Formats: sequence, structure tokens, C-alpha cells
Amino acid sequence: MQPVNARPAAQVGFVGRRESASKFEAAAAGLGIDLITFSPDRSGQAEAKSADTDMLDDFVARSSLISVEFGCEHGIYCSLMDVADRKLRPDSSTIHVAHDPLAARYVFQDCGFEVAEFEEVDSGDDAGVQRFARQHGWPVRLRASRWGLEGPAVHVVRPYSVLGRAWAVSSAQRWLLETWEPLTPQLAVVIARRPSGHQVVLGVTATSGQDCRPRRELPVSASIRKRAISITRSIVDGLDVAGVVTVQFICSSDGRLLVDDFTYGPAARGAAGLLLDDTLIACHLRAILDLGPDVPMRPPAQQLRSVAAPQRSSTMQPMPTADSGGGQPTAPTVGALAPIGGSGHAPLREGMPVGIVGGGQLARMMVLAAARLGVEVCVLARSTDDAVCSFLPDVMFGDPDDPQVLDEFTRCCRVVTFDHENVDPALVDGLTRVGRIIRPGAATLRACDKATQRVQLAALGFPVPPFAVVSNVDEMTDFAGANGGWPVVAKARRGGYDGRGVRFVDGDEQAIVACALAGNGGLLIEPALAIERELAVLVARRPGGDHVVYPIVDVHTRNFVCESLVVPAQLEPAAASDVVSIAVELAHVLDAVGVLAVEFFLVDGQVLVNEIAPRPHNTGHFTIEGCVTSQFENHLRAVLDLPLGSTALVAPAVATANVFGGADGADPRTRTSRALAFDRAHVHLYAKQVRVGRKLGHITVLGDDPHLALATALHARDALSIDEPT
Ligand code: ADP
Repeated sequence: MQPVNARPAAQVGFVGRRESASKFEAAAAGLGIDLITFSPDRSGQAEAKSADTDMLDDFVARSSLISVEFGCEHGIYCSLMDVADRKLRPDSSTIHVAHDPLAARYVFQDCGFEVAEFEEVDSGDDAGVQRFARQHGWPVRLRASRWGLEGPAVHVVRPYSVLGRAWAVSSAQRWLLETWEPLTPQLAVVIARRPSGHQVVLGVTATSGQDCRPRRELPVSASIRKRAISITRSIVDGLDVAGVVTVQFICSSDGRLLVDDFTYGPAARGAAGLLLDDTLIACHLRAILDLGPDVPMRPPAQQLRSVAAPQRSSTMQPMPTADSGGGQPTAPTVGALAPIGGSGHAPLREGMPVGIVGGGQLARMMVLAAARLGVEVCVLARSTDDAVCSFLPDVMFGDPDDPQVLDEFTRCCRVVTFDHENVDPALVDGLTRVGRIIRPGAATLRACDKATQRVQLAALGFPVPPFAVVSNVDEMTDFAGANGGWPVVAKARRGGYDGRGVRFVDGDEQAIVACALAGNGGLLIEPALAIERELAVLVARRPGGDHVVYPIVDVHTRNFVCESLVVPAQLEPAAASDVVSIAVELAHVLDAVGVLAVEFFLVDGQVLVNEIAPRPHNTGHFTIEGCVTSQFENHLRAVLDLPLGSTALVAPAVATANVFGGADGADPRTRTSRALAFDRAHVHLYAKQVRVGRKLGHITVLGDDPHLALATALHARDALSIDEPT
């Protein structure tokens, strides 16, 4: 039995300034976490010491874990390390590194990371500073090598600076002296790590200049961003940190990425100092409590932004360094926790971004359309290699199949849409039930399983090719026997695009392989059709049913992949009317919202529905220049339930040729000038890594004659793809 007076231990104790403590209390309450706080009296250390000690002991005894605030005064750290080392988050070794820049330099260097040129100097060693500056150039930066010292601990020293003052105002004995480039860009990576090692990158900030104002956001190449993230990951792993950490980098003028600074805790760096952020506090609390191994964390992009605003509370402590990074985090990444303590999902608000699941070229083009409309977007991408990452700031990295990731992503967005349909409809359904707005919805996405879709369309009476859903060789053989013999065309049920997952199966042996590759779900099979023409139509549809239809596209495929297309398709009026009415009807039947692409085969003069895709489509890229409103813009308008734009062609003929990775492995971007030399050719390159056969871009040509437009598009494409075009 518990003694009458015993109080249960709190989950988390917080040590830090009073104003921070109240923010922690609010965040903990929101998360259902039991939290107690301890704020040392910074004014009268000596007198308050003994009273504080008793209170501190009590506080330590009552806390299971103790989160210490970065910049909290020195004395309290020492006391805590004595009495509560194992409870500290971060632990004392991390605290040492974070507060002793000299120690940090050695740690970073030992790990093999580049740091600025540096030296240790003693307090008062003016000659040492002069010597170092003459060798490396002015200005230099001087930092006190111990933490918790009174007075400014960082000085940017110029030839005319009076060093005596620096030495005098600090009690530090040893100083870190290093090179300093005030105008080079600075990068900060905010990461959360659990004791179990699970890490989540919460944001990447890139800003100009380090001691000049005002700061402005900078674009940073994906590779630098990637390196900074990877170094940050190594550092937090190496230090075994639990909680939120910010690692800052300098992009030196000679192109090096230098690790500069390391702070812990949920304070985001703003232009004027460290700013506590509610969302980061929540991430930090969850991280230190190691809440579940697979639960990702992420503050919404919006909130990361807002903490970077250069506002400083009057009670805010001065920054411990002069090199505070400001500006806007540019790449918030993987998602935040599912609510614990039943906090539920955040209400969807105007002003939150439109979310796009998938970071491929469709997302990339959607983002460009969104930029024109002034619509903010956030993308859920799988990796930094995704086509969208080379220019979009707000990317969250994660697996859309992970319920937690999708939960958090959708929570941050006012409406969510897709650049690919390979998302589990059940997840979408669940999220819709808790109020997330996802367009298209689960019912439409369910129809993206090729087999389900085909069964559904046939049942509804839409004209489709003969088909069967098979799961073994016997069934496939039977189908072939009943439908004109081998070969048959086998299609993976999900995940296929651009001909991926589609293959001819010519006999038993190939049937064995196809069935083995298909796994349990089986395959959709069709006879190998004598296809006269392939056609596509895009419908953009708003939630209420309001819709527009784009001109019919004549699609030219090779090896199952769309190679080029021409618009408008020259078609018998009856077939054209069939195609359009089927596409519109399908959009209504599926309750599609956004763009729905419908692909058709023309076989023996008859229109057959091949498949549908509930998103902007490869066959609609021509709309970017070829129509009054592009498919991407109309998709966004539709999912946002805004009036749809005209789909009229702006030229009598439009042709598009796709650009694929060639056998020589050359990046078409190295040959852009050749393609641009073609009159009326619009070159689109997706900045993807080159692989043989991979779609890397497309070229659209507007013209008066369809044949000429197509020929020009193909020539321009070849100029990009072929080493020496003839
Ligand atoms: P994806 O989803 O990869 O676009 P599709 O089902 O559209 O897959 O097939 C890709 C291409 O393969 C089609 O555009 C067409 O050229 C060819 N194809 C598909 N089904 C058949 C078939 N039954 N007979 C002949 N060719 C087919």
C-alpha cells in the first residue's frame, strides 16, 4: 500500500525559465502528460542556493525524466548532473557538448565532419587572436569555451575591435577562436530523436548571412540539404540524444558544409534568438518519452514557419551565440505523433496548405500550378530523390502506407490530394471519418485496383476488354484457351504505371513467372488486343458534380509506355461522343473529385475503357501550354472546390513527346539548349536521376497542324535524348 503522503512520480520534470515552464505545462496538458516544473531563480543564486537545493531534490525525486532548457543557468546544470544524471534529457554529455563550443568542435572533428578552422586561445591572448586572423583573415569569431558564463560569450572580432572588453566581461579561461564569414549562407536542421534511436527531421532552414540583417530565405540544393541532414542524424546518434536538437551549418564560400553549432530542446532559432515553439515542445516531450517505435513526429509546416519569425519576447534570454539562424525552415519533413491523451485532430483551417501525397513529376507540376494561384502546398514524398524535392520547400518525408505518417500529413493540410493512387483506400476512409478532407476519396481510390476497377466497370455496363482476374497458371491457361490463345496481357493489380506491371505472357512458362510475381492478390489478364488507337480523356470535377472535359487525346504507345500524343484526336463523331460521355459518366459514378483520366482502346471501331486514374495524368501534360487552364490547375481548383477553368485548346494542334533516359545514361538537362532551339517547343524536365527508360521529361509543341506539331516534338525530344541528333 502507498504511504498516505506519497505523491506519484510525474512523467516529466522541466527545468528552465518560468515563461518556458508555462509553455511546457500547456503542451504537456494537451498531450495528457503529467509534468512538473522547476525554475531556478537566476537573480540571487548564492542566497537562494540552500532553499533551492531542497526544492530541487524534491523535484528530482518526483520526476521520472527531466527535460532541461537550453541556456538555463549554469549552477542548476551542475546540481542536476550531480543528483539526476540518468534522468536528464538530454544527458549530461550532450549538455556539455552543446554548451562548450570548443568541446563540440573536437567532437565534430573526431567524427570526420568539417568545421571552420579553429584554435584554442587563453583569455587575454590578444596576440594569439591577431596571429590567427592574419593567417586566416578577418573577421574572426571568439567564443567562450564554457557554458553558463555571465556576459556575452561570443564576439565577432574585426581588426579594430577592442578585445579587452571581451576578456573582461566573461569569466571564461579558454576560448574558441575560429574563422568567420558573415555573409555565407547558414543552414539549420531540426531533428527529433527518441531514446530508441528513431529519428525524424522536423525542418531545414536555409538563410542568408550570419550576422547581417535582415535575413532572407535561400534555396539550398537537395544534395547539400541531404548532407546536412545526414550529418545531423550521425551527430544525434553519436551523442545518443533524446529530444529535439538543432544542428547549424555554415556553407563556406569555398563550398564546404561546416558544422557550426548544436543546440537541444524545442527552441527554434529565429533571427533574434531562440524561440520556444509549442509544436516543437510537443515533439520534444513525445520524443523524450519514447512514445512508440513507429510513431513519427512532425510539427506542421505552418507552425515551423511561425517560430522563425523574428519576434522576441522581452523576457527571452540573449542567445548564447551570435550566429543565430533565422528565416524560414524550408523542408519540414516526417510527420508528428498521433494524438496521445485523446487530443484529437487539429481542426482544418483556411490557410493550411494543400497536401499532395507523392513527390513525383505530377506533384512537381501541381506545385507549379499552385504557385500561380498563390496556393500553399505541402508534399508527402518518399525520399529526397523525388522529383518535387529539388525545388519545393515544404516536403514531409514518409511512407504514405504508414497510418501514422498519413494521419499527421493530412492533419497539417486543409485538403489532401494525390500524385499517385497507390494509397490504401482503407486508410483514406479512416482519416475521412475523423474529418480530414481527402480528394479524391476512398471510393474513387478503391477503383484504382485494376481488377476491382475492371469488375466494377463491367458490372456497371461500361464497355471493357474481355478480362479475368486470375491467381494461378491454370486459370491463366484456361483464359488464354477461351480468348484466342497465347499471348495474353497480364497486369499487376496495383502500383503499375507507365507500363510497369504490364507484360505479355506467351505460354505456360511465362505464366508461371507472372503468377509468381503477382503474389496472392492475383492478376488482371486480357487477350492481346489488336488495338487500332489509344485515346485518353481528362475530366476535372468538383465535389458537387460541376465538371469540365478536356479535348480527346490521341495516345501513341511503344512497349506499353506512352511515347507521344496529339490533340485533338481525329475521331468519328460517334466515337468521340462515346468517349466523352463515358468519361463524364465514370467521373460521376466514381464520385471523382479532381482530375480523372480515362484511357480507352479503339478495337474494331469500338471504344473500350482500358483504365482510369483519379489524378492529373501523363496524357494531360499538353494542357500546361495547350489549354486555357492546365490539368494541374483544374485539379487544384476542383479539390479546393473552386470554379473550374476553360479547357479550350489555345492552338489548333498540340503534340507532346515524352523524354526517356537513354542508353548512354546522359542527363537530358545537359542538352536542353538543343531542344529549346525548336520553335514553339516547351521543354519540361523533371530533374530526376537518369535511368534507362525512365521518364525524365516531356516536350510540348503548339502548332497549326497536328502532324507537324508531333514531328517537331519528336525531333526536339530526340535532340535531348540522342547523343548526336541527325
Ligand atoms: P499502365 O497502367 O501501365 O498505363 P495499361 O493497362 O494502360 O497500363 O497498359 C499499358 C499499355 O499496354 C497500353 O497503353 C497498351 O499500349 C498496352 N496494352 C494494355 N493492354 C493491352 C492489351 N490487352 N492488348 C494489347 N496491348 C495492351
